[in-house]
Amino acid sequence: LSEKLESAFKNLKGEARINDLNIANTVKDIRRALVDADVNYKIAKEFTDRVKDKATGQKVLNAISPGQLMVKIVQDELTELMGGTEADFNITGNPAVILIAGLQGSGKTTFTGKLANYLKTKKGKSPLVVAADIYRPAAIDQLTILAEQIGVDIYAERESNDAVAIARNAIKEAKSKNKNVVIIDTAGRLAVDEVMMTEVANIKAAVNPTEILFVVDSMTGQDAVNTAKTFNDRLDFNGVVLTKLDGDTRGGAALSIKYTVNKPIKFMSSGEKMDTLDVFYPDRMAQRILGMGDITSLVEKAQAQYDEEQAKKLEKKIRKNQFDFQDFLDQLQQIKKMGNLKDLMGMIPGVGKAMKDIDVDDNSFKGIEAMIHSMTPAERGNPDLIDQQRKLRIAKGSGKDINEINAFMKQFEQMKKMMGMMNKMPMGMGGRMMPG
Ligand code: GDP
Ligand code: MG
Repeated sequence: LSEKLESAFKNLKGEARINDLNIANTVKDIRRALVDADVNYKIAKEFTDRVKDKATGQKVLNAISPGQLMVKIVQDELTELMGGTEADFNITGNPAVILIAGLQGSGKTTFTGKLANYLKTKKGKSPLVVAADIYRPAAIDQLTILAEQIGVDIYAERESNDAVAIARNAIKEAKSKNKNVVIIDTAGRLAVDEVMMTEVANIKAAVNPTEILFVVDSMTGQDAVNTAKTFNDRLDFNGVVLTKLDGDTRGGAALSIKYTVNKPIKFMSSGEKMDTLDVFYPDRMAQRILGMGDITSLVEKAQAQYDEEQAKKLEKKIRKNQFDFQDFLDQLQQIKKMGNLKDLMGMIPGVGKAMKDIDVDDNSFKGIEAMIHSMTPAERGNPDLIDQQRKLRIAKGSGKDINEINAFMKQFEQMKKMMGMMNKMPMGMGGRMMPG
């Protein structure tokens, strides 16, 4: 999905502003990418229609390319669609009862362990996990091993064939043992079937759960939506758990499920280790779906920091080859205002990975700043003024030696030359490097 979206945004690269044509093309590509990622066509269409409405008529700020602005709109919409902010998870009650439902193999038993571990270590709860899968003896063993691993008590009845009774007895047990959360792991079938549904519904009626969580394998794509709908019609669950988000699943299922059943996604789970459970954050999932690095924050930071007027002035100066030391110093300060340099660069798609092993030292600017600060305003505005004598004075003032001053001035000249060249290139390259 991510690659497809990236190509969708390529449409906009180099465009100076959003217009109807590039919106239409981009929106079409986004829609295709979503559909390919198992998002239902109708949902994808409604989604992209909203994006289109939002994008139309947006003024592109100086510091932002239309591509970035579109990414931001798409990301905001995705976040909104998946619930906006993270959902509440109710664990009040004595004990709180959490019922886990879903198809076989979706990851219920694994999630039961992870949730117990999460509640124990992060919320200071004392959980009891319950093996209410009466069809597979191995299911009891599986939960027993997990419970042991995380140091949590388990309730099971090996001879029983009554899941409802097991659930009821487990709650009695929890009360007598002072357990404040009961997590009931139920049986699942490979496909939705009536026996299973009736059983889970009966457990629900018997124990009146605080939370019913529907567990779904995020790799099952479009099927996940239908399953979610069937379970919701029957159980009216409180929230969804997305499992197996490891690997390259992009989470298209998250989008469709939320949209179709309108229940919040509460947890996301990846990997088989017990500590790989996380609360579901819609904004992070939106980013994951976009898979393009944290472009949003970059755009937001740019929006907040850049001064349009100043940018225009600077652009003019660059064009006339009048970029001077004072401008350079201002630019450095702008960049620093936006945050840590390495983080900033990491937000640019494609750059993040490449930057992983490279050390970018924010302090490397300090020396440069010291040198510029040691220049008089006249020198800053007119680098040609700086002769040997002045260089010596600047060196002394900034605590550098003359070679460093020479090297820096040479670099500055080269940079200026490059800026001049970029300015002759089509909009979108040179203009992007510096505000303007
Ligand atoms: P259940 O039948 O719904 O109880 O599903 P299980 O918890 O037994 O999980 C089915 C299989 O998927 C097992 O092999 C688990 O180890 C595996 N599994 C569960 N959750 C995850 C996950 O988040 N990521 C990965 N990679 N595997 C998982
Ligand atoms: Mg199981």
